[in-house]
Amino acid sequence: MLNYPPRLALACRNTPLQPLRRFCEAQGLPLIWVKRDDLTGSVTGGNKVRKLEFSLAKAQAAGADVIITCGGVQSNHCRATALLGAQLGFKVHLLLRGEQPAEPQANLLLDTVAGATISYHPASDYHRGLDQIFADTVAAYAKRGKTAFVIPTGASDAVGCWGYVAACEELAADFKQHQIQPQHIVTATGSGGTQAGLTAGAVLHALGATVHGINVCDDEAWFLSKVRQDLRDWQVHYDVAIDPEALDIRVVDGYVGPGYAKAEAPIFEMINSLARSEGLVLDPVYTAKAFYGMVQEMRAGRFGEGELVFIHTGGHLGLFAYPGEVAANV
Ligand SMILES: *Cc1c(COP(=O)(O)O)cnc(C)c1O
Repeated sequence: MLNYPPRLALACRNTPLQPLRRFCEAQGLPLIWVKRDDLTGSVTGGNKVRKLEFSLAKAQAAGADVIITCGGVQSNHCRATALLGAQLGFKVHLLLRGEQPAEPQANLLLDTVAGATISYHPASDYHRGLDQIFADTVAAYAKRGKTAFVIPTGASDAVGCWGYVAACEELAADFKQHQIQPQHIVTATGSGGTQAGLTAGAVLHALGATVHGINVCDDEAWFLSKVRQDLRDWQVHYDVAIDPEALDIRVVDGYVGPGYAKAEAPIFEMINSLARSEGLVLDPVYTAKAFYGMVQEMRAGRFGEGELVFIHTGGHLGLFAYPGEVAANV
């Protein structure tokens, strides 16, 4: 049996598994089932809530007063941490990459409402010196007698992996309930932790499906290495009876487009298409790029003829940061 570490009940569970019958029929595609992890909470929603159930439990156990984490100005992870941190009585400090905008919007608006302390770091400093920025921030709190707990980018580390290992237990129940046996599970991958958890969880919970991450930044080599390293750290740290080297990590590269958080017309067209045919809303940074990539790969035959599962990892608020592009693609 799996020995889960301490976990807080923060997510609304179980999230629905929803078939996209109208969309798939119209497009002539095998049936896609969407795991609605955008519904893990009405404001906090998305994949980070599942990870933070374990990361924040660890922070509590460590006796932390302050949570420090990092991301882009529109980071879904930072917003989820700001709100869940407030819910649990932590002070939250966000290290954001980029410039402070004139007015906060979308995710940053919620970080602000939640009372997070925010420091902005130009992209060059951030990329070069993130470890040092974390260390300096922790030291500054220590000087004031506060214990800070660091959560890395996207909560993708050994403890964060548990979020999607546990989600696979839920998927096993979903498959049973709907009496389906999908061969493939597809997710957007951005810092690797969701993919790592799913890859191990699919084996541990005998889902009988292969997990594919469609990267929204960097490239295949980066994700193969990052996901493997997260799995090694997780396995060693928790002594799980699984060989991380034997896990089949699959990265589908080619759908980053012009760059992280930059999207072109086909992505906004896909967002419109799903919203209009299914009432399902994707975001231009993660889920629409991954969904678009998945559909291209289905057409190219990568996933065979059977039905498959797409993990909707959330990110709705990201769409609100692109009003101009949405209007241009109506
Ligand atoms: C963070 C995020 C991802 C990527 O998950 P990782 O575990 O960081 O790879 C995908 N979709 C959304 C909406 C996210 O916020």
